[in-house]
Amino acid sequence: MAIAEPIPLVDLRAQYLALKDEIDAAVARVLDSGWYILGQEVRAFEAEFAAFCQPPDGAAPGCVAVNSGTDALHLALRACGVQPGDQVITVSHTAVATAAAIQLAGATPVFVDVDPETCTLDPKALADAVGPQTRAIVPVHLYGHPADLAPILAIAREAGIPVIEDCAQAHGAQYRGRPVGTWGDLGCFSFYPTKNLGALGDGGAVIGRDPELVERVRLLREYGWTPSSRYVSQVPGLNSRLDEIQAAILRVKLRHLRAWNEKRRELAAHYRTHLPAWVHRPVERPDSTHVYHLYVVRVPQRDRVQQHLRAKGIGTGIHYPVPVHQQPAYQAGAQVAHPLVHTERLAGEILSLPMHPMMTPTQVEQVATALADALPTIQS
Ligand SMILES: *Cc1c(COP(=O)(O)O)cnc(C)c1O
Repeated sequence: MAIAEPIPLVDLRAQYLALKDEIDAAVARVLDSGWYILGQEVRAFEAEFAAFCQPPDGAAPGCVAVNSGTDALHLALRACGVQPGDQVITVSHTAVATAAAIQLAGATPVFVDVDPETCTLDPKALADAVGPQTRAIVPVHLYGHPADLAPILAIAREAGIPVIEDCAQAHGAQYRGRPVGTWGDLGCFSFYPTKNLGALGDGGAVIGRDPELVERVRLLREYGWTPSSRYVSQVPGLNSRLDEIQAAILRVKLRHLRAWNEKRRELAAHYRTHLPAWVHRPVERPDSTHVYHLYVVRVPQRDRVQQHLRAKGIGTGIHYPVPVHQQPAYQAGAQVAHPLVHTERLAGEILSLPMHPMMTPTQVEQVATALADALPTIQS
């Protein structure tokens, strides 16, 4: 039996329509202003996003809005002094953007394995991989679950190496009661439309507690110009400016982010109670708050399960089908610290189920029922 209405993996149009009047008014305000790049909307968004990331026990971080999450990571790495020839440790089980940013900075990605339960950087694997050429560590808060930051930061401090958090999938996630992005030296966010906070185009941001480091990112964002040295570059930079229209849209959506994250957590709890027992559910470590950018289960015979759901009108995804170290572009240019056993196994088992803040509990139940119906298929 097919379900009445298809259930998509994400529904960006529904999210827009839910806020259509506010978003249209924000866009109109910018169009009318005559100022389209790096203006008051971007400045206001930077302050508001920094406030969103403020830890309960400290000041709001500094914030620089940039053109994408990839740029956020690239500029953060450069601001931390990463140079051509350096090595940067990260995971292979991530969006390729993490590795692309490291290469943009001229460095070589060195991949370590992940913890198979949280799918984030395994601190035990990290300890063995740090070497004399390591210049930075980039843990990824994949799917919205924080990496185990305390041991990662301890290893980094011991070695005197900066930590740059890839928070592209984890806006609002918390580790030990403090938001991700405020633990490491810099935190990097993406506002790609599907992310928990998404623009209607590209966008990104870097946050950090050290004002000097944050200012270095700001300099790199626009050709190395300072406010008093426009058109005269102090350092070699690039153009990673954010549009005023995107900033104005992000300001509207930011006001809903906490409620949307809460909705994602409720849907995840609903999945947890309704999914059949043979479906391996994502974990949430007791010291962490997961924001379920993606709801990723593990199943046997994944491709057949995915095909079964597709036939019933249920959209799924695989994040990601080929680990970065096995992709053609990175087979030669990257290094692997040790056999990536968990990374390679996960790629064949993971399946992202529909998850977005406009989804209903009934739809979650329909997905769960469709999965239960898949059992004969995978046993045959
Ligand atoms: C989306 C994403 C990025 C890159 O962000 P863009 O805005 O698409 O450049 C980086 N890292 C991870 C883990 C992501 O999911």
